[in-house]
This record gives sequence, structure tokens and C-alpha cells, in this order.
Amino acid sequence: MPDLRRRRSLGRLLALGAAPALASACAPVAFVRDARVADTPRFALGVASGSPAADSVVLWTRLAGDALAAEVPVAWEVAADEGFGRIVARGSEPARANDAHSIHLQVRGLEPARWYWYRFAALGQRSPVGRTRTAPAAEGASAAVARLDFAIASCQRWDHGYWAAWRDAAAHPSGRPLDLVLFLGDYIYEYGSPPGAVRAHEGGAVSTLEGYRARYAQYKSDPLLQAAHAVCPWIVIWDDHEVENDYAALQGEHLQPGFAARRAAAYRAWWEHMPLPPALRPVEAGGGAMTIHGRLDWGRLARLHWIDTRQFRDPQLCPRPGRGGSNTVRLRDCPALITEPARTLLGAAQERWLAEGWSLTQPWNLLAQQTLMARFTREAVGSRPDPREPAAMQGRYWTDGWDGYPGARQRLLSVLAERKVPGAVVLGGDVHANYVADLRLDPDETDPTRSPLVATEFCGTSISSRGSAQSAVDAALRFNPHIRHGRSEERGYVRFALTRERLEADLRVVADPKDANSTVTSAARFVVEAGKPGAERA
Ligand code: FE
Ligand code: CA
Repeated sequence: MPDLRRRRSLGRLLALGAAPALASACAPVAFVRDARVADTPRFALGVASGSPAADSVVLWTRLAGDALAAEVPVAWEVAADEGFGRIVARGSEPARANDAHSIHLQVRGLEPARWYWYRFAALGQRSPVGRTRTAPAAEGASAAVARLDFAIASCQRWDHGYWAAWRDAAAHPSGRPLDLVLFLGDYIYEYGSPPGAVRAHEGGAVSTLEGYRARYAQYKSDPLLQAAHAVCPWIVIWDDHEVENDYAALQGEHLQPGFAARRAAAYRAWWEHMPLPPALRPVEAGGGAMTIHGRLDWGRLARLHWIDTRQFRDPQLCPRPGRGGSNTVRLRDCPALITEPARTLLGAAQERWLAEGWSLTQPWNLLAQQTLMARFTREAVGSRPDPREPAAMQGRYWTDGWDGYPGARQRLLSVLAERKVPGAVVLGGDVHANYVADLRLDPDETDPTRSPLVATEFCGTSISSRGSAQSAVDAALRFNPHIRHGRSEERGYVRFALTRERLEADLRVVADPKDANSTVTSAARFVVEAGKPGAERA
């Protein structure tokens, strides 16, 4: 007997609670009319698309329920219209038990810069309909694309709250649908739930393939997350909680033996549940090593780069005794932070790949990565008489983020400065707060002729994971004047509209994370003008 409560259309779900926020919007919710949440039990985990290119996109689903054969044929269709009157591609793909009955279908031969609709069918049941799109091509008519609407999101801890933010993302309150979602890490959390959680994780902490698969299935059962996947393609990168808090390469937080096997299981489950190309399917050896960084040209408007700051990093310095993972340390107690500048956050190969790949011809370079890049000291940093000095032995830093790898950050920002990379915008998450920052080679140098602004940073807050107290952020902000905006007690995501002339950022914030029907409103808006790094409040 199907659960009838769940057979509401996404359109209706989106209308719930979204109405107040939409009252002043210029357009009503135009949504995929046929899309249904868990329309049929076999497709209870929804559909998704991702990794868009000018001529292809990846379609994803995973069959749910018991008694599935080792191989189940899944029919698929891609149409040029919402009513599936003009089918442009169709076929059948086996869902295999070995892949948790997930499908990763790379549909090729599509036209650039246009919307498509897709659906699956298996075992006599039909999936919800998803909407997706291709990127504009680097050459030809579509390259002259005028606009990109996208969102960044991260950190959706299930037991910390509901995901009204995803309803807002799917319902395009700005009147324009999102072309793309960039998910920047912490799609799941591996923990068990404490008593009294808003909604509990099923089972305890997960560390096995079966455990991770079940955790993804629980997260993917959320109708609002399904709605956000169904409206546009996603580009996904991972952070730590897809595996374990604060892990670094093949080192677990507790230096536990057998971490490589745990990581391999987690990486595999991540691939199984994300709209990633079949070619990325991980192998067991070496902790499931997987290349997830990449780049995409959005016509001649922007080059988008996404990177992996987990898999290839050096371990965090100065951990608490007997363990790995992060710590918050004074620089004077952990001088290796600056005396070992060769330490890496990306690994040498990825760092080189990024340095060589910046576009010097497009007006914008967007860098999607996991965490806050701007220096964030929790204690005062003294004035420096000699600006050539590498850094003062002052300040207090969290070692898991870029502050734990200042040499790597300096190398990245130096490339942007030396090559005069246009329109560099760093996008991040992880720290469960909205930060808007100026990125300079020397954050304490306020004279722009000595240390020019080389990039703008938007670190978006969490979808639901709780943040620190605003009082702690306020206390630190006065030591970090290059951070123009810092808010840790708001949940949500950031919506962007990019044109050749400017980038507009809209910090969307959930009124009540304990309420799935919460309103979502703009907490702040910022604008970055092309050719002039640094965000101004709009
Ligand atoms: Fe997080
Ligand atoms: Ca994280």
C-alpha cells in the first residue's frame, strides 16, 4: 500500500509556505507540473540530473524497495517539452544491485543551452519528471549567453532541521529558474542523532557501505530536496561528513586503523547517490580514490571550476593529543602553520590543474570549493611594520579550513594576482554561516596599491546544520576587517544572478529551521561589478 500522504505533487508542496515569500515576486511558481514526490514506491528517492555540458547531461535515479533482482531494466526518456510530446532520446539501462540499483546515464547528442525533461520507468512504475538543461557551448550562437542563475548550498544535517531552503531554491522567488545548483559538501552527516533531535537519523553513526547507503536513502526521501534536484542540474563536490568529520586524505579523525576501507565505502555510496557520470564510478583500491574536480565554460560568460579540498590534503597540523582532525590554535603555539608553506590542501596535481586553468578571456571565473578561504582569526593580529614579513606570529586559527593551509592559499591567490585573472569569485560553505569577504594576498594590508583585492568571496550558510553563536562571530569580525558580512545564526543558501556586467548575490534565509513550511526571505543582497573585485551591499 503506497503511502498516500506522500503522493502530493511537488507543485503543491512548493506552494505550501512559499506563498508569503512569493507574494511580491513578479511570476507565480512555474514548476514541472508532472513532478510528483514518491509517485510510486520504486522511485521514492526521486530523480536528479547533473554534470551538465554543452551536449550532454547525466540523469540519476535509484530504485527503492525490497526484492529487487540483481539487474533491473530501467527505461528512460528525454523530451524537449514538458508534456513529453517531442522525445529526443530514449533507451533502457540496467539498475544493478552492485550499484545499489542506481542509474547514472550520460545522455549525449543534446543541443546546447536548452531545457529538457526526463523520466524513468521500471517494474510497472513511472518516476517523477525532472527538468534539466545543457550548458551554452564555448563557440557558436549559444556562447553569447547573457545570464547564469545559480545557487550554492552545503551542510544539510538532517537532525538539525527541515529544508525549507530547498523549496525556495526550487520555486525561483526571483522570477527566474535556477540553471544550476552547486552543492559544496556535507550532503549527509555520518553521525547518530542525540536525543531530542528535530528529526532523528535512522540508526547510529554510519561507517559501512550499507550504512552510508541507508543514510543517503533517508536524506533523499525528503520531498523538498527531491524538488530541488528535479528542477535543474547539480554540480556536486564533497566535504568531510560524506565520510567522517575532519578526515584528511587517508587519515581518520581518530587515527583509526582501517580508515581507507571506510573512505572507499563512503566514496562509493556518494557516487551511487549523486548525478555523476558513470566514468567516475570509484574502484575499491586506494581508499576509493576518485577524481571529482572539474570545470565548465558557461559560454563566453564564465568559467566555473570546482575542486576537492579533502582527498589530497596534508593532515591538519597541531591536533589535540592522540588524534587527528581539526583544532583551534594560536599561531605562536603552532608555528609550523607558516614555517611549512609547502603543505597542500589540493594536492600538487590538482593545484597545478587549477593554476593552469583560469580563463583570461571570459569576464568571470567562479571557484566552487568547500570552505571559507578568507583569513579568520579569533584573536587580534598585530600591525606589521614590514609588509614583506610573511605573517605575524599572532592570531588564533581553525586548522581544518584554509587557515590551516596558509601557504596553499597564498599560492592560489598569487596566481590570481600575477595572471590578473578576471572576475575571480570564490564560493564556499562548511562553516555554517554567511560570510562575504575581500580576498587579498595580505588581508591586513588596507592600502590597495600594496595588496590589491584579487578575488571576492561568498561563503554560503548551511541548509540546516547549526552554526556558532553570533556573539562569537561578532567578537572575531573586528580582527578581520576584510570580512564585510558575517552571520552564523541563519540557515539557507545563496542565489546568484550573473551577467557580463555584474554578479548579484541574494542571501536567502529560513525563518524557522524547525518548520518544513517556513518562509524564506532575503537577509542581504550584494553586488560585484565586473572588473572591480569586492562585494558591495545592494
Ligand atoms: Fe557542515
Ligand atoms: Ca564540513
